[in-house]
Amino acid sequence: IIILGIETSCDETAASVVKNGKEILSNVVASQIESHKRFGGVVPELASRHHVEQITIVIEEALKEADVTYEDIDAIAVTEGPGLVGALLVGVNAAKALAFAKQIPIVGVHHIAGHIYANRLITELKFPLLSLVVSGGHTELVYMKEHGSFEVIGETLDDAAGEAYDKVARTLQLPYPGGPHIDRLAHEGTAVIDLPRAWLEEGSYDFSFSGLKSAVINTLHNAEQRGEKISPEDLAASFQASVVDVLVEKTIRAVKEYKVKQVLLAGGVAANRGLRTALESAFSQIADVELVIPPLHLCTDNAAMIAAAGTILYQQGKLGAMDMNANPGLDIEK
Ligand code: ATP
Ligand code: MG
Ligand code: FE
Repeated sequence: IIILGIETSCDETAASVVKNGKEILSNVVASQIESHKRFGGVVPELASRHHVEQITIVIEEALKEADVTYEDIDAIAVTEGPGLVGALLVGVNAAKALAFAKQIPIVGVHHIAGHIYANRLITELKFPLLSLVVSGGHTELVYMKEHGSFEVIGETLDDAAGEAYDKVARTLQLPYPGGPHIDRLAHEGTAVIDLPRAWLEEGSYDFSFSGLKSAVINTLHNAEQRGEKISPEDLAASFQASVVDVLVEKTIRAVKEYKVKQVLLAGGVAANRGLRTALESAFSQIADVELVIPPLHLCTDNAAMIAAAGTILYQQGKLGAMDMNANPGLDIEK
């Protein structure tokens, strides 16, 4: 089975060809980060325009690199949601136009299901499993009893982990996206500043990062008013320690309660070195549970992950219709 994946939910225009849901034949990503940087975040209208400019080029490139033609493609998998509506529309319409012109079926993919399935590009999935999804817009613990089945057992009540990273980075006057910059600073500092950890009510798998974000901002402002200088490295390290502690602890608790065989890390924040190291060391203590962490280029937005998730839907016969529409509020459980 050869699937062409298309992803335009945010600020990456991406296309990829994946064989049998596992083997990447090509994976092309055109990032718009440079354009959005001077605005300190993604500007939706600008994102849509860039997608329109890039989409045809990126798809052509993906086919060429994979050395396939439309005749070889069994289905086109496209991100249907969630994301920016104007951005999603570009991918969905490109997919529908190609599907119509070339008479190829289409499959609508949930962006977060894609992030989770990035893991299938590196290893076989073993059910039941748990995925810790940490991205720019989501922080969730997702339980999967089988392919295509997603149960959200915990999620953020306010900011996503990536959002908190980006906002804290902005306060420290670091460029967008701030996650990698905080990660780098954190490695040069020590977690000596006392910051809150939101455990929420006992037994809860939900997350909350807005209190932590405010605490970081207040710490900086208070020091400024007292004319003191706070080490940005130590502040970054302390912030990162607080985020990582909560993510790791809740994941471990869920792994034990749900008795899963595998834990998959997913989403852009999965690129975080502190989080990767902490999970690796925590899981080295737990027998019979395999921890899977994708390489960096499969953590951030790409279309190979969309093709991988789309392959399962295609195999299950869950094809999309020609009236498919971008759905910014798409629910992963449905
Ligand atoms: P979503 O997937 O929820 O729709 P998104 O697609 O915008 O959101 P991703 O592309 O998955 O998000 O991830 C981007 C986020 O990952 C940004 O917030 C970025 O700061 C963060 N990020 C990337 N690398 C790192 C890192 N090393 N440490 C922490 N955060 C990181
Ligand atoms: Mg992005
Ligand atoms: Fe994403």
